[in-house]
Amino acid sequence: MRKARYGKVHEECGVFGIYSVDGHDVARTVYYGLYALQHRGQESAGMAVNDEGTIVYHKDMGLVPEVFNDIILNHLRGKAAIGHVLYSSTGGSYRENAQPMVIRYRSGQLALAHNGSLVNATALRDRMEESGAVFQSTNDSEVMLNLISRYSIVCDDVIEAIKKMMQEVRGSYSLVMLTPELLIGVRDPLGIRPLCIGKLDNSWVLASESCAFDAIGATFIRDVNPGEIVVIDEHGISSFQTGTGGSSRLCIFEFIYFARPDSFIDGVSVHQSRIEAGKLLATEHPVEADLVIGAPDSGLTAAMGYSEQSGIPDGQGLLKNRYVGRTFIKPQQNQREDSVRIKFNAMKSVVNGKKLVMIDDSIVRGTTTRRIIQMLKNAGAKEVHMRVSSPPMRYPCYFGVDIPNEEQLVAANYSVEEIRQMIGADSLCYLSLEGLLKTPVGARCGFCTACFDARYPIEIPSACLKGKGRVVI
Ligand code: SF4
Repeated sequence: MRKARYGKVHEECGVFGIYSVDGHDVARTVYYGLYALQHRGQESAGMAVNDEGTIVYHKDMGLVPEVFNDIILNHLRGKAAIGHVLYSSTGGSYRENAQPMVIRYRSGQLALAHNGSLVNATALRDRMEESGAVFQSTNDSEVMLNLISRYSIVCDDVIEAIKKMMQEVRGSYSLVMLTPELLIGVRDPLGIRPLCIGKLDNSWVLASESCAFDAIGATFIRDVNPGEIVVIDEHGISSFQTGTGGSSRLCIFEFIYFARPDSFIDGVSVHQSRIEAGKLLATEHPVEADLVIGAPDSGLTAAMGYSEQSGIPDGQGLLKNRYVGRTFIKPQQNQREDSVRIKFNAMKSVVNGKKLVMIDDSIVRGTTTRRIIQMLKNAGAKEVHMRVSSPPMRYPCYFGVDIPNEEQLVAANYSVEEIRQMIGADSLCYLSLEGLLKTPVGARCGFCTACFDARYPIEIPSACLKGKGRVVI
């Protein structure tokens, strides 16, 4: 399979952009915006700035504060900028894949930062390579840039070239782009990945999540619509709606796990949706217990909802070491247990002698859950009833979230009872898919739920498939 040759990146990322109509210096604003989006990617960070018509950039492997310092920010001066934080799966962790990608083509310079993943990137790349194109990275962003560059030969302007590119690519993409004149935001026709618009005094801002606006003191204006291109210049903002080809399919995993709880996406509070998931979980799967605890950090909000609905008090039964980050040297295979012990510890004074309900957002491989339950029992917990605030995850994601192949997904290979035995829980229940779809309260969009039900909203080319047969809606 040719994909392996490229070691294609799963692009779980955060993007940010700003255009200052007043000519206000923007690099520090991007820095703080990226800081607020750090949870979306810790592998690399980068920024491209329009310095009086010339795009200059800096990017490197590492966290935002590791990549940028005062001296670098002082050199990145300009009135418009875009930024990116990248999480990449195994095989994609190279400096060449750090974004923004910046090219020089027949219309001048163009910088692009992408959150998402294309399902036909390999086919497009093969086709372009056969006609002589060269690529420096293994990411999809460079494929999109190549297409824009090619279409610029026949199109009047960059917006028309972007529209042509959108007709060719299939998959998820939220883009921020920078030309010597414009800041451009694009959301894919199904709106799988989020992108929103804000205002900071006279500056327009774009970000993957609204929490980035709060961090810089900007006001949320609205979400970019699926299939919409927004163009910002010194005259303000304009919008071009391209054909969406159907209803939207926002990734529901943004609400379960990926987005920050203080963000709003497509009109829905992420925090509120997690509270709702906990409440519905308590209604669907009640249990007699003394205490509700959340697996930090992903299960904490749903645990509050479970507690509220069930009337069982919630408490802090597990402590997470906040300083285990990207640079943590992982123990070798025979020391895996140490890895979980270093990251988490049970609060003996809280759990000793208690019947617990433990809430987590998902069970992927099951190994960490097993260690944590063991840890709670060693600390004196009488019973541990596991409740999961999403359905069993049985299928891989092709749209940018690094969910392992079916061979590694425990729910793809074992029954709920078998998983319960493997993780050593006294009972195990998952939120139903019907329940999950009720959790984004007030949603104005449809959802992708394919990692739970294999109903992929875009046909997955056979060369990309990572497992068994698929249902496509
Ligand atoms: S398959 Fe799952 S993780 Fe991927 S976009 Fe759909 S809902 Fe999100």
